[in-house]
Amino acid sequence: MRYVIIGSGVAGIAAIEAIRSVDKAGEVVMIGDDPHGFYSRPGLAYYLTGELHDKALFPRSREAYEQLNFGFLRARVTHISCAEHTLEIDGAKRLKYDRLLIAVGAQAVPLEVPGAKLEGVVKLDHLNDAKHILKLAKRGKTAVVVGGGITALELTEGLLARGVTVHYLLRGDRYWSNVLDERESRSVEGRLQAEGVTLHYHAELVEIKGRNNHVSGIRLLDGRTMKCDMVAYAIGIRPRLELARASDLAVDRGILVNEHLQTNDPDIFAAGDVAQAYDPLTGRSVLDSLWTPAREQGYVAGLNMAGKKKAYLKSPPFNVTRLAGLTTTIIGAVGHGRDEDVLGVARGDSETWRQLPDAIVAQTGFDVNHIRLLVGEKTLIGAVVMGDQTLSTPLQKIIANGADISPIRNHLLQPDAPIADLIADFWTMWRREAAL
Ligand SMILES: Cc1cc2nc3c(=O)[nH]c(=O)nc-3n(C[C@H](O)[C@H](O)[C@H](O)COP(=O)(O)OP(=O)(O)OC[C@H]3O[C@@H](n4cnc5c(N)ncnc54)[C@H](O)[C@@H]3O)c2cc1C
Repeated sequence: MRYVIIGSGVAGIAAIEAIRSVDKAGEVVMIGDDPHGFYSRPGLAYYLTGELHDKALFPRSREAYEQLNFGFLRARVTHISCAEHTLEIDGAKRLKYDRLLIAVGAQAVPLEVPGAKLEGVVKLDHLNDAKHILKLAKRGKTAVVVGGGITALELTEGLLARGVTVHYLLRGDRYWSNVLDERESRSVEGRLQAEGVTLHYHAELVEIKGRNNHVSGIRLLDGRTMKCDMVAYAIGIRPRLELARASDLAVDRGILVNEHLQTNDPDIFAAGDVAQAYDPLTGRSVLDSLWTPAREQGYVAGLNMAGKKKAYLKSPPFNVTRLAGLTTTIIGAVGHGRDEDVLGVARGDSETWRQLPDAIVAQTGFDVNHIRLLVGEKTLIGAVVMGDQTLSTPLQKIIANGADISPIRNHLLQPDAPIADLIADFWTMWRREAAL
């Protein structure tokens, strides 16, 4: 049996671990086109600010890879022939597979304005992008950042940390409006301004101007112009669907897979950012662009590829991130609909967050210690925790387990309810009962 994995990200690595837990003898080959192999992509933000050395981005030792006993080809898969069970590699070589995993991730939605190809226009997809940004930041004095979501802020903070003056453009009237509420957006914006970032609202980039093939400034839709040396953009991501489309696999916004992470071809599986996974609990197929679901999907796909039937049961998405220096956890459904700055999903994002939840909001705290709860009829369906993180894990467990919050529901919805205390007491009681 030959298992082939396309993509050396976390989904691909987790699949190999799962295959090896079932099948010690089969041949496993991974094909990846990133020259740096497997590394922590969320860690790129901390590498940009200088808080992490690039060596810290690589979570595995050579020995750990050797134990998994797989072949690695640094190459690009250019075509899949499903009927023949073969892959075309770098436009030439052919490789046969018995079971195939497509774990090729997602990539930044390109900026499509005149001047977008000039030197000094950057994105943050890969380690090489981060290295390029750091090189440019040594010479650059002023940068314009375009886009909403987490990555745009990571670019902003990385550039600031390297001494670059940053102008942040928002097309709408507040930051990440489809996930954060107004108070949360304003809190992040206030902190950015305090750090020295200039925010521009209703600012739509229409042209990047250049001199000697290098960025020299920008022009906005309303005619405003600005001088700058760099333009960094993060306007959303797109699952890489080219391979699947060309081989007639079923795709929607991602590669469509059932709860076993299997595509419409029974020998081909997909996992991670590229997959649109069916969730048997809600009956919907959704995109996540989060590290933990990618790892979990990769693992479940690997088990199924090796013949051990297992369903992927999606847990409510959970992400701990830093927004303008403010530790923020987002759990479950918390959204507010569309955001003009982000097309589709953003990095470290989940479609579930942006559902309009049929829920009442309970809120507590001010500025940096803030909790927002989305309260359903009997359960909590989402939460945002900013600042003090004591309650983020309890809230994740309460939401993921669908704990019946009836005993505290009315109290939570009282004006000025002590939400943090109510949750802490409920957690203590629920945990004791759940353990019985
Ligand atoms: C800057 C940044 C910040 C992030 N922050 C967070 C965060 O805070 N929290 C969070 O949960 N998630 C975060 N994420 C998202 C998280 O990293 C992804 O969800 C996760 O890496 C997805 O894993 P994957 O294995 O599906 O795909 P990827 O990690 O994208 O790996 C896919 C690999 O396949 C390779 N590939 C593509 N096409 C081919 C081909 N044809 N042939 C061979 N190889 C190919 C790609 O080069 C890539 O190496 C962040 C991502 C980035 C970039």
